[in-house]
Formats: sequence, C-alpha cells, structure tokens
Amino acid sequence: MPRTVGFIGLGIMGFSMARRLIEAGHKVAVYNRTASKAEPLVALGARPAATPRAAAEGNEIVISIVTDSPDVEEVLLGKDGAVHSAAKGALFIDMSTIAPETARRAGQALAAKGIAFLDAPVTGGDVGAREGTLSILVGGGRTDLERARELFDVLGKRITHCGPQGAGQTVKACNQILCALNMMGICEALHLARLSGIAPALVVEALTPGAGGSWALDKLGSRIARGDFAPGFMVDLIQKDLRIVQDAAKRLGLSLEGTTLAQQYFGENQQSGEGRLGTQAMFKVLERAIGKK
Ligand code: NAP
Repeated sequence: MPRTVGFIGLGIMGFSMARRLIEAGHKVAVYNRTASKAEPLVALGARPAATPRAAAEGNEIVISIVTDSPDVEEVLLGKDGAVHSAAKGALFIDMSTIAPETARRAGQALAAKGIAFLDAPVTGGDVGAREGTLSILVGGGRTDLERARELFDVLGKRITHCGPQGAGQTVKACNQILCALNMMGICEALHLARLSGIAPALVVEALTPGAGGSWALDKLGSRIARGDFAPGFMVDLIQKDLRIVQDAAKRLGLSLEGTTLAQQYFGENQQSGEGRLGTQAMFKVLERAIGKK
C-alpha cells in the first residue's frame, strides 16, 4: 500500500534511499537544504518541500538522514522543523548516525507532541543505499518498527530491533569501530602487497572470500586498488562517528586504543585537506609515512 512519507536530507545516502521509496510507489515529499539536489527526485514524481516543516506536512511517516546530532535536532525540532506540521500519531524515523543521547532526547521531545520516534541508523554504505541492501539498526518500540517495516524492506536487507530508543545508535557506534579498524587492516595489507610487487587488486580478489575478507575489503579495497578515493563515506563523517564512540566508551570506563589510532590517521587525512574523500583515503596517510620510521 502506498505510504505518505516526508524525506529530509538528500546527501549521498538520503538521495538513493528516497529514490528507492519513490520507485517503490510511495508518495514522497523531499526536502534538502541545498534545494537543487532534490530536482532529479522531483522529476521522478516527488513533491518538493522548501523546509523540513513542509516535508512533514500531511505525511504519516517522516524520515531524516542528515549529518550530525545538532542537524537532526534542527530539522526535527528547530524553527522550521518537521515537528511543527506533523499530525498527531505520525512516526518520525531518524536514520542519521548521531549520539544515542540525542536520539533519546529527540524521542522524548516528540513523544510530548504525540509523535512516535525510532532511531534507525544504517550500515552498508552508498552501495547499500543504492541497492536497498542496508542493515537497519532500530531503537524504539516494536510496534513502531512494524509500522515502518514496509519502508525498511525497500531500503534494507537486514532489519534488527536493537532495543529501546538510542539502542540503534549504540549498535551503530559498535559498527563504526569495526569499520575504522577494518580500514587500518586493509590499508596495511595493501601497502605490504604493493611494496612487495603484488598488485592490490589481486590481493582484494584473492582474500575477499577468505577469513580476512570483509565488505570493506571487497568494496573499498577495490576502490583503493583503482586509485578511487571519492566518497562513499567521508573521512569527516567517520571522525564525527568515532567521537560518538569515544564519548560512549569514556562513560563506561572503556579504553579503545585501536579506535584512537584510527582517529589519528583520519585526523592526518583532515589536516591534509582530505576530509571530504572516502574513508579509504586512509591509504594515503600510510603511503606518506612509508620510509619515515
Ligand atoms: P552527506 O552526503 O554529506 O549528506 C548530508 C545531508 O545532510 C545533506 O543532504 C545535507 O544537506 C544535510 N544536512 C546536513 N546538515 C543539515 C542541516 N543542519 N539542516 C538541513 N540539512 C542538513 O552525508 P551522507 O553520507 O549521506 O551521510 C548522512 C548520514 O548518514 C550521516 O549521519 C552519516 O554518518 C550516515 N551514514 C553514511 C553512510 C555512508 O556510507 N555515506 C553510511 C551509513 C550512515 P546539503 O546537501 O545542503 O549539504
């Protein structure tokens, strides 16, 4: 059954996700801060909205996927936020990667207006967003998840109820540790191969199905082998996520040495003006360090 959806945030992830919903026959209103990014979706039949408030108006479900915690608060609860036009009983689903506390706070503020809320961050990258193969990590009520399931099925392959509001974001933080440390392993392995006269592409192909293989080796290792450092997932964004991880770990008295090293490497990317490249640009940091120790 077609659902009415307000979609806020048409970046690398949001654009492809909104397109999938439109192509699945749902009635989607789209908002993006930089309005031009919405044009191809309007051409596919989406209703353009000038503000998050306008995107939410009259819609049963509102999905947001923007950058960081303050951005989510702004688009949902700010002056032109979706909260101001949403119908009582609407369901808001935030799919950005943000701090678990912000998700819980947003959930409480929305509940006070009779609006249900799920945090539902995703993993699976730009490829997963395009192909509808994301893993969706849901925090909030099970009934609310069931209300959203039809849409989640268009966007993702594995949908996991992680616990109450904020729990999706906590599981996503765990994922970001895995992504960051996996990237260190990929970069070290591909440099060892390259300097030994073995093509990185061969290593990616040979090792992806084995015990050391991973989604990241397959998708991002092959981008490194091609010299393609365009974002999928930007260095600046993983640095945001690793700060969320470290905040959570600090509160638990947990020391994350591997994550700290990954933050240093990505920090060197940022200092070299590479913050808007993909996370696979960590390869460049290790390359610059060769022979220096
Ligand atoms: P992106 O391409 O940089 O897109 C960010 C989007 O948020 C843009 O549409 C941007 O609008 C909008 N935005 C940011 N701040 C805003 C504000 N204050 N008000 C209104 N709109 C605002 O990033 P992305 O890769 O799609 O990532 C989006 C979220 O998904 C992030 O939380 C990220 O950590 C998470 N994520 C990304 C990936 C990935 O592989 N890329 C995977 C999983 C999760 P403009 O177009 O005007 O800048």
